[in-house]
Amino acid sequence: MKKAFVGFDVGGTNIEAGLVSEQGKILALFSHPAQTNKGKKQIAQNTIKVLEKLLTPDIKCLGICLAWPSPANMPLTISEIKKIISQKYKCPVFFENDANLFTLTEALRGQGKKHKTVVGVTLGTGVGCGVVDNKKIFNGRGEASEFGHVSLNFDGPKCVCGNKGCFEEYAGSRALKRLAKKYKLTAKNGQELYNLARQGNKKALKLWQEFGKYLGIGLTSITNAYDPDVIILGGQISKAYKYFDKAMKQEIKTKALLKPPIIKVSKFKNAAIAAAAFASK
Ligand SMILES: [Zn+2]
Repeated sequence: MKKAFVGFDVGGTNIEAGLVSEQGKILALFSHPAQTNKGKKQIAQNTIKVLEKLLTPDIKCLGICLAWPSPANMPLTISEIKKIISQKYKCPVFFENDANLFTLTEALRGQGKKHKTVVGVTLGTGVGCGVVDNKKIFNGRGEASEFGHVSLNFDGPKCVCGNKGCFEEYAGSRALKRLAKKYKLTAKNGQELYNLARQGNKKALKLWQEFGKYLGIGLTSITNAYDPDVIILGGQISKAYKYFDKAMKQEIKTKALLKPPIIKVSKFKNAAIAAAAFASK
């Protein structure tokens, strides 16, 4: 019988889940639409569906690790989903904020390996932020730093958390949609805006620079708050790094009160899922 953990990464768009070896190697992956807009019951059903797919009778489950987004981005709480899973599966169920798990894998196995204070920022539908200091998650047990919901503009656009002008409104996919409108581009999402930039579309290139400036303002605050040695960017939007990195770094360089950290882009495909192997310890 094969022993494995199950790691879940539940995003605004998809539930990504994988079987993970004790060493943190991903053995199998499965993806299912999260359908977060369809409410609690649907998310619970989708989660169980994914587990049924992964936990075939030849697998001995060592633990199920839920990488759960901020409560602001998810209608179902972690204790609710934990209860639903525990009723059906007997193995231990543990959870951690998704950005914390992403950062933990980076700090233990990735580009944060040689550094003391590692901050991970995931750029997707939401903006997550995890802090790992001396290889330990700072503020763990599902409580991430919630830096995505620090307000950069008290009069800014309304965020899903109820606050106004959150970092997430300037560095997540809603920011890109707003910017696309401003630059009169018909692209519907980050991927399309990235494709336009690759084709040399001038408006798209300008858009990514403006995005980089916003991101840099947020990362400046993170620098001032945590004095990280390295910030590692993850999530779909980080793919467009080369189109926003100059504007982003310029902002940090001119505004941060502490030494600008090294900034890297994650090379992992599923860092939050792989973390299932180390998060239980
Ligand atoms: Zn918010």
